[in-house]
Amino acid sequence: MKLARFPRLRITHAPTPLEPMPRLTQLLGGPTLWIKRDDCTGLATGGNKTRKLEYLIADALAAGADTVVTQGATQSNHARQTAAIAAKLGLSCHLILEDRTGLRHDDYRNSGNVLLDRLFGAQLSEVPVGTDMDQAMALLAARLRDDGRRPYVIPGGGSNPLGALGYVTCALELAEQANNAGLAIDVLVTATGSAGTQAGLVAGFEGARAGIPVLGIGVRAPKAPQEEKVFQLAEQTAELLGAAGAVRREAVVANCDYVGAGYGVPTEGMIEAVTMVARSEGILLDPVYSGKAMAGLIDLVRKGQFHSGQNVVFLHTGGAVGLHGYVHAFPAA
Ligand SMILES: *Cc1c(COP(=O)(O)O)cnc(C)c1O
Repeated sequence: MKLARFPRLRITHAPTPLEPMPRLTQLLGGPTLWIKRDDCTGLATGGNKTRKLEYLIADALAAGADTVVTQGATQSNHARQTAAIAAKLGLSCHLILEDRTGLRHDDYRNSGNVLLDRLFGAQLSEVPVGTDMDQAMALLAARLRDDGRRPYVIPGGGSNPLGALGYVTCALELAEQANNAGLAIDVLVTATGSAGTQAGLVAGFEGARAGIPVLGIGVRAPKAPQEEKVFQLAEQTAELLGAAGAVRREAVVANCDYVGAGYGVPTEGMIEAVTMVARSEGILLDPVYSGKAMAGLIDLVRKGQFHSGQNVVFLHTGGAVGLHGYVHAFPAA
């Protein structure tokens, strides 16, 4: 895979740690649980968008951009990390935020990621649920161009083949860590949304023939469209790397049974998972992605899908700052 020829900003605090979770392992009584700490990427409270932005922002700079435009839900971690890197590089940043959950609570609308977006000096505009977000970004970019700006448009979640390279890099990093530690990983579990994370991981592991299966836990779409989206992007990513055809369709697996009522809407399983990991490991998950992914992992362990003697690695994709937007969802302890 021709990874090194792509321009990349080196901002991630990498390698992110791979740590055991002994107390959670003991509580659940199944497989040995590990955690890959991509919540510790170092950019403005961290998260998985940092690795994608290394490639996307390098491309923006190469294109001579002075402004970045992107989109997400109100409490988007991608929007926050984009705003932070734009601030660091002196680029203007425009964020189009979709009111995807309809939550009206003041913490959801003003705290967590939204507070940080504003702090980084990004221009925020809110649009109703169901808006064609790609079109909204194209219109905004056209307006900015008319004003003499040079905008660079980043898709939602940073999920295109260039952004997914960040998770090809992570796949290679994790395979090396496991190798050095003598750890045979039976499965890597991650939240999957806009698909770039899982697609990059799968493209990386498949391209390297690493033999590490990935299980995506969905946070929005049903299984069939989610797997199709991940597969398409994984194939395109492999192609970009000169490894066309490296990704087998059966290497793309998503379980979308833990979404609940919808994207960003709290579930009981999420509340339990966030609380359990906080109290057993002192680690903060997030209410929209890693909390629901961990709820899925906990349930699958309880159902016996993974068993004692197996090594399961959970990819912590970050987002805990979003907890401050969901104070209303957590019972007072
Ligand atoms: C964006 C995000 C994800 C999902 O990653 P995708 O590449 O969009 O599938 C998972 N966890 C967190 C915390 C995120 O912000």
